[in-house]
Amino acid sequence: MFPVDTTRSPGKHVQPDAYLITHAHSDHHGKSAMLSPNAVCSEKTAVALEIRHDKRYAGRMFGLGDEIDVGGIRVKTFPTEHTVGATAFYWKNDVGTRILVTGDVKDAGRLPPCDILITEANYGDPADPACHFADDLEGMKCALFENGKVAFGAYEFGKAQRAVELIRGFGYDGAIRMDARTRALTRNMLEDAGELEGLGSEGDDGVFIVAPWYLDKLPWNMKKYVLSCRMDYPYPTIRISDHLDVRGLENMVKKLNPEVTLVYHPGGNRPYKFSEYLNSIGIDSISIDQIGNVLSNEFT
Ligand SMILES: [Zn+2]
Repeated sequence: MFPVDTTRSPGKHVQPDAYLITHAHSDHHGKSAMLSPNAVCSEKTAVALEIRHDKRYAGRMFGLGDEIDVGGIRVKTFPTEHTVGATAFYWKNDVGTRILVTGDVKDAGRLPPCDILITEANYGDPADPACHFADDLEGMKCALFENGKVAFGAYEFGKAQRAVELIRGFGYDGAIRMDARTRALTRNMLEDAGELEGLGSEGDDGVFIVAPWYLDKLPWNMKKYVLSCRMDYPYPTIRISDHLDVRGLENMVKKLNPEVTLVYHPGGNRPYKFSEYLNSIGIDSISIDQIGNVLSNEFT
């Protein structure tokens, strides 16, 4: 028995053979699961969990792409490019059914075909304009090279490292300023992040990457943007996401060609909306809110 992306069961309850953790975002519950010796995640995810929660990771680790043994089951691991270290898990059950659990996905290009796909729908509502986007790389590049100082609002884990990769890819090789924890995460997640500096008294040259709420604290005369597909920030947004949009999710499902797709994440109604949409185009699907916590034989 190995749950994926769950909290840890209290010690007096039956313990699973393993807690598989797809990545280090808090809504995937690594903060709780990382404290169990039965936790299993990628090396990068373990490092990110330790920095983010200032606790020792107690489980075991694998290199992304490795095949691991979990209670006698061979589980293959695949990158989803949602964060550094983000992992999809793939195994066959005892009658040969191929099962893939993706966690959050930015790029499905390296995921394997499967019979049961268990996936996310963070941007899964086809009727919502916010669920249709392409990364605005040109907009970010323009903002970076405009005259004057620039600050990008980005969450410390995931988006901030993507921002650094993009900024370096655009050819900027000067200092990037960020708070201590974001800097530690970025140094440990990226092979070559270039010059990273702190905030505050250490100088104010370079490009800033800070949490969206911290933009208020930076000088008024800086140009400030939030890297997000959300529209409820008091600053202009540049659409840079670490998820697939709804067309990307649909294309992923079609490519992986499962018999059935279970949409398990996030909370709210988007899993249901995406599942409903898949059924409307002839792809069998169900969302987790429709099945409670038991997969019936009828379903499988
Ligand atoms: Zn995530």
